[in-house]
Amino acid sequence: MAALKKLIAGNWKMNMLSADGTALARDIAAGAGDVGCDLLLCPPATLVSRISETVNDSGVAVGAQDCHEAESGAFTGDISASMVRDAGASHVILGHSERRHGLGETDERICAKVKAAHGAGLVAILCIGETETERDSGQTLDVLAGQLDGSIPMGGRGFAINGANTVIAYEPVWAIGTGRTPTSEEVLAAHAHIRAHLEGGMGNEAASVRILYGGSMKPENGEELLAIANVDGGLIGGASLSADSFLAIAGAAEG
Ligand code: PEP
Repeated sequence: MAALKKLIAGNWKMNMLSADGTALARDIAAGAGDVGCDLLLCPPATLVSRISETVNDSGVAVGAQDCHEAESGAFTGDISASMVRDAGASHVILGHSERRHGLGETDERICAKVKAAHGAGLVAILCIGETETERDSGQTLDVLAGQLDGSIPMGGRGFAINGANTVIAYEPVWAIGTGRTPTSEEVLAAHAHIRAHLEGGMGNEAASVRILYGGSMKPENGEELLAIANVDGGLIGGASLSADSFLAIAGAAEG
């Protein structure tokens, strides 16, 4: 199968008010025609609608950073997958480590959210990744397999996802926001393992599922990380808050 077109996704986390966010999105949209990959911006929920309007016809997609698994109800402060869709988003990040480890989200809950996202017609960006302790004790590959098994909805024939509705993001917890990254060999091994595990759960269809790397990706290391086999793009936190650095990473993403 031909290489998948790469996806460079920006996770703005809890940053940006409307003026800054709109300016950032406008600058990124202006540069989108110069890169050969897909671009996605994930602003805070308050800005999803505004950023969707800002990037409008540029080809840049917009996503939310989380959604609730229920369709509606008494969940003060939460937003449903259909609300995310209604605000103009096409994607939603689910299972980010700041929610798994910071807010105690379990695989089971994340799986319910993935189902809700699919039900609303959203692409789920499902994040998985090991902690430093798990890496140091040699558990990385088992942890990744366990998170895939626990967070991916199951159907009659195995994993009930496809390349059009799900993206996997491998994000070592210890690399997020720290300036530290795994070696190329470690990224290669993790992504190969994720691909093989997906194959075990869904056969040949696994080849169409994009696997992003996330964790301190920046212009200085983007080219090397994005050239590794089975790295189909990047999920970028800090470096997505500047149009220059985000577009520089996107410029390094061939395919
Ligand atoms: C992230 O939060 O998804 C992330 C990858 O952050 P950073 O690029 O800042 O490490």
